[in-house]
Amino acid sequence: MKIVTRFAPSPTGYIHIGNVRSAIYPYLLARQAGENGIMILRIEDTDRARHVEGATELIEDTLEWLGLNWDEGPIVGGPHRPYFQSERQEIYHRWARKLIESGRAYADPTPPEQIEAYRKECSAKKIPFLYRNFRPKDTPEWQPGIPLRFKAEPRPYTWHDEVMGDLSAGPEIQDDIILIKRDGYPTYNFAHIVDDAEMGVTHVMRGAEYLSSTPNYLALYDALGLERPKLVSLPHILAPQGNKKLGKRDGAKSVTEYRDDGILSEAMLNYLACLGWNDGTEQEIYTKDELIQRFSLDHIQSSGARYDETKLLWYNGQWLRRIYDEQGPEALYARTTRFWPESASSYDDAYKLKVLSIIYDRLKTLSDLRVMTDYFFADPVIDLDMLTNNKFLKKLSESTIEELLKQTIQKLTDLKDWQADSLQQALNELLLETGRKPAELFSLIRIALSFAPFSPALNLTLEVLGRDTSLSRLNAVARSI
Ligand code: GLU
Repeated sequence: MKIVTRFAPSPTGYIHIGNVRSAIYPYLLARQAGENGIMILRIEDTDRARHVEGATELIEDTLEWLGLNWDEGPIVGGPHRPYFQSERQEIYHRWARKLIESGRAYADPTPPEQIEAYRKECSAKKIPFLYRNFRPKDTPEWQPGIPLRFKAEPRPYTWHDEVMGDLSAGPEIQDDIILIKRDGYPTYNFAHIVDDAEMGVTHVMRGAEYLSSTPNYLALYDALGLERPKLVSLPHILAPQGNKKLGKRDGAKSVTEYRDDGILSEAMLNYLACLGWNDGTEQEIYTKDELIQRFSLDHIQSSGARYDETKLLWYNGQWLRRIYDEQGPEALYARTTRFWPESASSYDDAYKLKVLSIIYDRLKTLSDLRVMTDYFFADPVIDLDMLTNNKFLKKLSESTIEELLKQTIQKLTDLKDWQADSLQQALNELLLETGRKPAELFSLIRIALSFAPFSPALNLTLEVLGRDTSLSRLNAVARSI
C-alpha cells in the first residue's frame, strides 16, 4: 500500500519543539513503507499577515538537522509543485468553482462590520455564533475581493481517528466556513483539503487542535466527492507545569536553539519520537533506522505527553557516549567544533581530542565543553578561597597545604614517565607517604590544577595537561600560599 504523508507548517516563526513531532511521525511512517512511502513538505503560507521572512528556511534547516528529508517539496520539487500554498491559487479557485457549481459555496457580500454585529448579537444572547444562521439572501457572482463561503448542510458525523479511536459529532458546529478570503487566498480549512487530495496524501497527521474542526472537513470531503484520508491526531505536548499545551510562552525554544545549545540531533529525534510513543517494550534509545522500523500508529498515546528537559538531557548524555563508543572519538569530536572555549582556538585537533576523550562521559550537552574545559587551554586564575573553603581541605592549615603541595611537586618532578598509569601509581604512593585521605590530597591537587568545580580523573587530567603545565601550576599555587 502506498503511504503518502506530509508536514505542512506555516512559516509564521521558528519550529518549536511542541510542534516538530508533526514532522517526525509522518516521516517515520513514510520511510517505513520504503519505496512505497512519500513524505511531502508543504509550506502553508496563505496567511500573509502572519508570514515571517526567513521562516521557511528555518523550517528546512530544522528538518535537515534532524535528518528528516522529504521526497516532495521546496528545494527538491516534485510532481505536485508548487509546494507553497501561496503559489497554488489557481488550483484552489478551480476547486472552489466545483463547489459553486454544485451549489455548495456562495460569494458572501456581507461587510465585515455587519459580521461583527452578528457576532456581538450572539454573544449578548449567549448563543454560539454560527454564520449559517445569517446566510445572506442575495449572493452575487463570485469574483476577486468577495469571500467565498461553504454552504453547510449540517448532519451528524462519525469517523475513525488512528490515535483517538472512533469519534462522532453532532451537526451543531458545522458552519458556513470561509473557503477563499477577501484577499483571494484560501483558508487553511479549504487549502489543506484540496492539497491533500491533489497530492494523494493518505495519512493526515497533525496536532489534535484540528479535531474540533474535523466535522467541517468531513463535510468538505463529501461535498467535493473525495475519499477521506486516514486521520491521525497527535496529542499535544504539555508544558512542564499545569495542563496546557507547550507553547512559546512556556519557553518552548526553537529546535535549532537546542542544536546551538549543544544537543545532538540524534538525541533530539530520539527524545521527541518517544514523547508520546513507545514500541511496547522498555527500550528508550533508538537510532533513526530503529525508529523507522518500529514506529506504528497504534502505539501513539492518545493523551498529552509532558515535555521534560531533564529527560532530553539524559538522552543527550546517552547519545554523546554512544557516538563516542560506537562511532569512535573522531565522530564525536567532529560535532564539537563550535563548542570549545575561546582559549582553545590556538590548540590543535589532537590536543582537543585528548581533552574530549577524558571528559565526554561527563558532558550533558556539547556546550558544557565551554565551561568545563577552559583550564586545559589557559592557566586558571588562582583562587585561594576555593582551596580553603573546600569541604575536605577546610580543616587543613595553610602550612599543611603548602607542605602537601611541595611533596606532590617533588614526587611528580621525579616521575620519569608522564603516563596515566605511572601518574596513578605516583599518586597512590603520595597517599601512603603523606598519610592523607584520597579526598583530601586529590582535591587539593585537582583544585590547584584547575580551579574548576569539576575535573576528570586526576591522573588523566595530569596526563593531558602535560608535565610542564602541571608542575608550573602547582608551583604557582604553592608560591601564593
Ligand atoms: N499549517 C498548519 C499548521 O501550521 C498545518 C496543519 C496540518 O498539518 O494540516 O499548524
